[in-house]
Amino acid sequence: MKTLALVIKLGIIFSLNTALSTDWGYNQTNGPEKWAELDDSYKKCSTGKSQSPININTQITKPSKDKLAIKYYADSTHIINTKHSVKLNFAKQSSISFNKNNYKLIQAHFHTPSENKINNKSFPLELHLVHQDNKGNLLVIGVFFNEGNFHNELHKIITNIPSGKYETKPLKNINIKQLLPEKNGYFSFTGSLTTPPCTENVQWLVLKDQLQASKEQIHALNKIMQNNARSIQPLNHRTIYSID
Ligand SMILES: [Zn+2]
Repeated sequence: MKTLALVIKLGIIFSLNTALSTDWGYNQTNGPEKWAELDDSYKKCSTGKSQSPININTQITKPSKDKLAIKYYADSTHIINTKHSVKLNFAKQSSISFNKNNYKLIQAHFHTPSENKINNKSFPLELHLVHQDNKGNLLVIGVFFNEGNFHNELHKIITNIPSGKYETKPLKNINIKQLLPEKNGYFSFTGSLTTPPCTENVQWLVLKDQLQASKEQIHALNKIMQNNARSIQPLNHRTIYSID
């Protein structure tokens, strides 16, 4: 009988964990401070030593010698309204090369307000372009948006966001190049995914040049995603590299 009771108890604990694991978010009960407690596989969210996002203190950067070449093409995509963000999944036509390594663009998503900061300055919107090499290594390019001019390509995305949570919709000919600033100057550092499971060894490139989106566009994205920025994580012993 004792064994049976234990099995039932474990079963309840297990199903509770499973339910919670899919339930991370940004409110008081399931937000960033609680992520590590929600699921064993999220432990890195609190024990990790090179977590993202970070504040980029431009006074302590070192010069970078790594070349960045971006080869983005107009691509068909799927747009998804996840519970946490607005996400585009790509057909892997676009790629970049960084430090002689090739990465394919796999997805892009947004955060309001920005997650990374520059000299403690936050931006109203940050785009994350997620890339993967053939060994599975991740590289994320972060692009900041300031409030300003209406952005045409962003408009295509916003007007096609499915209304239902987790609903997916095809989106043809999105010109992802338009979601990049003109110049490739960047800050680079190692970090993590900014959402559970907070996996580390992610190569980050935050572009120095910034884009503009209208107040209404930023508001429209925020209305759907709510505030989905994790707070700044300690830099610890990491070095931030910089190139213009
Ligand atoms: Zn992100």
